[in-house]
Amino acid sequence: MPTATRARTKVTAIPGDGIGPEVMRATQQVLAAAGAEVEWEEALAGAEAFRRGIAAGAPQETLDSIARTGVVLKGPLETPVGYGEKSANVALRKTFEMYGNVRPVRELPGIRTPFSGRGVDFVVVRENVEDVYAGIEHMQTPGVAQCLKLITEVGCERITRLAAAVAQAEGRRKVTVATKANIMKLTEGMLKRIGEQVLAEYPGLQHEHMIVDNCAHQMVIRPEQFDVTVMTNMNGDILSDLAAGLVGGLGVAPSANLGDEAAMFEAVHGSAPQIAGKGVANPTALLLSALMMLRHIGDFATARRIEHALYVTLEEGKDLTGDIAREGEGVPTAVYVERIIANLGRE
Ligand code: NAD
Repeated sequence: MPTATRARTKVTAIPGDGIGPEVMRATQQVLAAAGAEVEWEEALAGAEAFRRGIAAGAPQETLDSIARTGVVLKGPLETPVGYGEKSANVALRKTFEMYGNVRPVRELPGIRTPFSGRGVDFVVVRENVEDVYAGIEHMQTPGVAQCLKLITEVGCERITRLAAAVAQAEGRRKVTVATKANIMKLTEGMLKRIGEQVLAEYPGLQHEHMIVDNCAHQMVIRPEQFDVTVMTNMNGDILSDLAAGLVGGLGVAPSANLGDEAAMFEAVHGSAPQIAGKGVANPTALLLSALMMLRHIGDFATARRIEHALYVTLEEGKDLTGDIAREGEGVPTAVYVERIIANLGRE
């Protein structure tokens, strides 16, 4: 039950593009039904902003709202091809220096995968603003393009400290630093070196280094060995999607973008234009992201209650959206949401 004394926390809600508004509405319905003390400030970003000629993909009002609330729940944003400047997602992450991308990878009840029953439960911590995503890319001469990989000691230190903080907060024991230090000795080597230095300051945590290609292999053959992994931006981008695939795929993969000024929670999936507007999208990934958000703002009790209702719903295996239901048994988003809300009362 919500406590009467709890102040409502303002959160910027960006519905986004494609299936974004559908999964946002579904998530907000569940949070409201559970009595989450959240006051939404709805804000624009993505395709509509680009259509209005806003090069960064997010108008000033949206940036002001984020600066005010410091907490964002965001639907997927389409990256326009052929118009607009860059990705609105990347712009938001960079504007608020949200340097850490945290993606939990945990088996969910009722979601059967080839890895079910193995106890897959780890967190990928990905550096979010540096590396080849710094946007330093140009044609050097005709026929020769160059993209620079930018890695800093400050960036390596803060992402490693974030990984250690995640490990400590969740009672985890080991941090794996995965890099390509054997080939890129200065850039990837910097994360290995700084990461090992920083982690040595945490005597309660074990740490190890793994070459990132072996890490990809290990994630598939023995995923249960991982606890927290930390990686540079592009390696983390690729391996976190691989990791999402171990536990049920994009429809159920949440994430958080964390920085000192703001935290933005979003599903890993994109705007899924093929199914947008059909009322069949799976809102689980955004709902799980919203649970990370509730814990971030300190509302642990509501997060736990919703998580329980969601797990009961998945375990029952009835009224699931088409992507996770048994063949031919998929239901509309609204029916799935009703089922989760009905299960809120079950302890
Ligand atoms: P996508 O994640 O949108 O879709 C991949 C596949 O997964 C599709 O088959 C889609 O139907 C399915 N899918 C995704 N989410 C689902 C859900 N919640 N329920 C049921 N099925 C779901 O990836 P894409 O097609 O490569 O990208 C589409 C657009 O999204 C692009 O413009 C891309 O730039 C953008 N994108 C945005 C983000 C973000 O905002 N963080 C992330 C990835 C992609």
